[in-house]
Amino acid sequence: MIDVTGKVAVITGASRGLGAGLAERFLERGLGVAACARSRPEVPGARSADRLLSASVDVTDTAAVAAFCDDAIAHFGRIDLWINNAGLLAPIGPLRDNDPTEFARHIEVNVLGVFHGSQSFVRHLRARGGDGVLLNISSGAARNAYAGWSAYCAAKAAVDRMSESIALEEADSGLRVHAVAPGIIDTDMQGLIRQCSPEQFPRVQKFLDLKDRGALSSTGFVADRLLELAFDPVPDTPVLTILPLERA
Ligand code: NAP
Repeated sequence: MIDVTGKVAVITGASRGLGAGLAERFLERGLGVAACARSRPEVPGARSADRLLSASVDVTDTAAVAAFCDDAIAHFGRIDLWINNAGLLAPIGPLRDNDPTEFARHIEVNVLGVFHGSQSFVRHLRARGGDGVLLNISSGAARNAYAGWSAYCAAKAAVDRMSESIALEEADSGLRVHAVAPGIIDTDMQGLIRQCSPEQFPRVQKFLDLKDRGALSSTGFVADRLLELAFDPVPDTPVLTILPLERA
């Protein structure tokens, strides 16, 4: 495993699920971690307050994300890796039944939230010079349509295109960008999927079967794959990437 001691990562959506697992594993691997979500993340394993900065931030709030970036730079001196992970799945069900306010909120979190994080990090890299890695957590739903997930598919497809555009815009800088489909991970979001009726989400049985077979990835496994992608990548890894399943 590569040595990532002393690298600094920002993780949004780190109060539970994948983001919380990333924060915990990154601390174990010796990184400094700036973790945020609407509920302030409490990350086990932060032996030293110096290595964890934790705050309540709603990623839809432009000023709050920019201020968190500034706080992370003030605390750690620099940011090497920014992971836009915060996201939600609802509204679930046919678009004809979706509530427009809920649909708009979804786009605000899953697309505008990624815009906010990406902008803050790119501006930091432009100001300090040098290398940095932006990982935007996407989904297989960006690349394949799922009935019942129109908001989620649309938003994650937008994250893919946004990531590719940023990569082009920042090609003359030290930034590397990936939109990462992280696999199927054992989190609350998967629990929400399994609770759907077939009318809401016709492919629900596939996700029930995967859980029964114990086929979901752990957050620790995904964390290690993301650190490899960030700091020891296979040459010419494309902007749009897919992580393997832990128990494929
Ligand atoms: P999760 O268990 O539901 O956790 C979502 C996280 O996002 C929470 O920490 C939540 O914290 C935060 N969040 C939600 N809205 C926010 C907002 N407005 N501002 C700041 N933080 C917010 O979901 P997950 O499964 O860990 O998913 C993490 C990411 O992976 C998402 O982008 C998801 O689309 C993606 N993904 C997951 C899977 C999977 O199998 N789980 C597969 C593919 C992609 P608060 O509620 O405290 O704000």
